[in-house]
Amino acid sequence: MNRSASMSAIVVGGSLAGLTTALALTRIGWQVHVLERSGPKPRTGGALQTSFQELARAIGRDHAETVIDAIGGEASGAPTFWSPLREGLRGAVHRDPLATLHHETQVTALQDEGDSASVTCSDGRTWRADAVIGADGHRSIVRESVAPEHPDATYAGYSLWIGLTRQSDIPQAQPARSQFFMRHGGPHLLLSYPRPSDGGDMLIGWAWYDATRNSLFRKEGSIAGSVVQRTLRAENVPPCVLKELAGEARKYWESPFSDAIAESARRREITGIPIAEYVPERIARGRLAIVGNAAHVPTPMTGSGFAASVDDAVALSHALRGSSPATVPDALETYQKARLDKAQALVESGRGFSRSFAIEQ
Ligand SMILES: Cc1cc2nc3c(=O)[nH]c(=O)nc-3n(C[C@H](O)[C@H](O)[C@H](O)COP(=O)(O)OP(=O)(O)OC[C@H]3O[C@@H](n4cnc5c(N)ncnc54)[C@H](O)[C@@H]3O)c2cc1C
Repeated sequence: MNRSASMSAIVVGGSLAGLTTALALTRIGWQVHVLERSGPKPRTGGALQTSFQELARAIGRDHAETVIDAIGGEASGAPTFWSPLREGLRGAVHRDPLATLHHETQVTALQDEGDSASVTCSDGRTWRADAVIGADGHRSIVRESVAPEHPDATYAGYSLWIGLTRQSDIPQAQPARSQFFMRHGGPHLLLSYPRPSDGGDMLIGWAWYDATRNSLFRKEGSIAGSVVQRTLRAENVPPCVLKELAGEARKYWESPFSDAIAESARRREITGIPIAEYVPERIARGRLAIVGNAAHVPTPMTGSGFAASVDDAVALSHALRGSSPATVPDALETYQKARLDKAQALVESGRGFSRSFAIEQ
């Protein structure tokens, strides 16, 4: 691996897509600074699938081993939780001399200046590089410059409640089995994949698709018009809604899932995520490009958002390999040609579910 970088990138957003992209770029010898607005404290998330082979293709075998170790040695493609996956990627970035992750660094503006690109942060600092890659999620600021005619992901008409409960915290419940669970109940859909933890306790992570609470999410400011603004954090879910969720869970689903949801409600540990969708028309312009949820937002029902982010990172590093400062815009055009159709097809593939599930369109 070339360790003396002559080319540089700023990656905006240090979540799964941003960290994967940074590691894919250091593999081709680029110096990468990842700017992440949040602090280092891990946040919770749903379950995802990945494998050693998938990761190694993007970030190389050494870094893939670091990640697989962090997610508990699962190399087979079995579901893992979001937080250990992010911790594994973060560990790999920390070990990589060409990559630096800067927390509490929010990008507020960016510019393609012809012979370089720059970003300005809320602390007033300006960063300059050969390319700026937006991995800043469904409300991407980089997308506003890449696709100003089509900047917003739109609300899909339903939301997701997510939580994680330990079997040992619900001794009255049926024992959970390490088996994928998916069931409709009225206008609701529950997905869960219980997994054993390091200590042998079962972790019951669950995701509840709910099309009946649009007005709640609007009232709490999570949705404005057709645009998803933000997640409804656990501490902001009103107590009366937690009570309703616990009651509905008992009505629709059996133990241990109903008990797990009731326990998450009791602890005020349920997060509400309004689901957004975005079909891209452009994913690169000049020295700017977007990857991951900044580039394409499929419903989580596709189960492919992370896999697509890995494909973006691979395509981006292939396109930029061997480029010089002058050829970066052409290389990003090549990236766009490689990924745009597939990104569009991915989002479209989930729209059938969204149309049939959503009550409000
Ligand atoms: C509930 C849920 C379930 C999912 N399930 C699956 C699944 O089963 N399988 C699968 O493959 N995919 C799944 N996905 C999708 C998958 O998680 C994402 O596609 C993948 O993690 C890539 O996300 P991302 O890194 O692009 O965006 P995000 O995770 O949204 O990260 C964006 C990052 O950018 C940062 N940021 C934003 N703006 C700025 C700024 N201005 N300056 C600096 N930093 C900024 C944010 O703080 C954040 O850390 C799911 C998604 C959700 C929401």
